[in-house]
Amino acid sequence: MQLTIEKAKTLKAKPTDESKLGFGNIFTDHMLTVVYSPEEGWHDAKIEPYHAFQMDPAGMVLHYGQTIFEGLKAYRCKDGKIRLFRPEQNFMRMNRSAERLCIPQIDVDFMVDALKKLVELEQDWVPSTPGTSLYIRPTIIASDPHLGVRASNHYIFYIILSPVGAYYATGLDPVPIYVEDNYVRAVRGGTGAAKTAANYAASLLAGEEAKKLGYSQVLWLDGVEKKYVEEVGSMNIFFRFNDEVTTPALVGSILPGITRMSVLQLAQDMGYKTTERRISIEEVFDRYDKGELLEVFGTGTAAVISPVGELKWKDRVIKIGDGTTGELSQKLYDTLTGIQYGELPDNHGWITIL
Ligand SMILES: *Cc1c(COP(=O)(O)O)cnc(C)c1O
Repeated sequence: MQLTIEKAKTLKAKPTDESKLGFGNIFTDHMLTVVYSPEEGWHDAKIEPYHAFQMDPAGMVLHYGQTIFEGLKAYRCKDGKIRLFRPEQNFMRMNRSAERLCIPQIDVDFMVDALKKLVELEQDWVPSTPGTSLYIRPTIIASDPHLGVRASNHYIFYIILSPVGAYYATGLDPVPIYVEDNYVRAVRGGTGAAKTAANYAASLLAGEEAKKLGYSQVLWLDGVEKKYVEEVGSMNIFFRFNDEVTTPALVGSILPGITRMSVLQLAQDMGYKTTERRISIEEVFDRYDKGELLEVFGTGTAAVISPVGELKWKDRVIKIGDGTTGELSQKLYDTLTGIQYGELPDNHGWITIL
């Protein structure tokens, strides 16, 4: 497949104050699109000026939610280079999400290459203030104008870019989390392991209610017994019980995070015993009572590491640590961002330099 490039005639003004970027508010001058038809497969790959889509009101994505997305970042480094973190993993995961949502597979190598060209064209949009990056959002939507439930025959793949600051305004400060024991996000056999809009739609009400109570995110329990911990908001969750660093096993209802996978490796490199297993919420509270719960943190591309300072489950509230960022959370954050920003050696071959 060929990639054509049409450059924008006028460029937008770039943000002058990078400390006010926020997350996902500003978009760059160009986007990448590829379309799919049964006759031609994926074709017509273009980098073109950022623009709104024309969508038929009967467009299937609008009615049946047949859509998947990804999230990764490009980092501007002190050596002047721009780095991507494990981009092939994102497109491989996109293909696993595609399979679950009956969306045709994409060519991983082509997409990594096309993404590199897009970021290269938009390199002036990659911010340079520490902690900032260019967030990359690949998406696929079903575009058949049709009512009636079936998989679409036509799709649009696109990538948009957004210069971002920290995901949480509070940065690495520990956040309070509400353990959700009423609503569920996903069930085994459902779409929880796919990065798809429906999982987020299902999560909104719980998130709103938790926010009203002063909690910044919801910790989801398994959808069957509401007994086992699954994940938190848009992040995977880790617990440090003494020297065991553990995260819920990928049982089918949990999103297999690339940060999760990388943190498991880094914690192992640091000499911790890492496990992936079923973790009941009862165990979390029991081991807190025994003084064995040392740290809790979320992991994800957007927030990197997000320490949890407080957990509320039913009528119990526990405060983890001393209210500051835990030792391991800080070490993992420093190591992971050190690799991403090219300041630490890339021992695992995770980095693609533009
Ligand atoms: C994207 C996402 C994550 C984190 O995945 P990363 O690859 O680490 O960014 C975790 N949970 C959910 C529900 C997600 O959508």
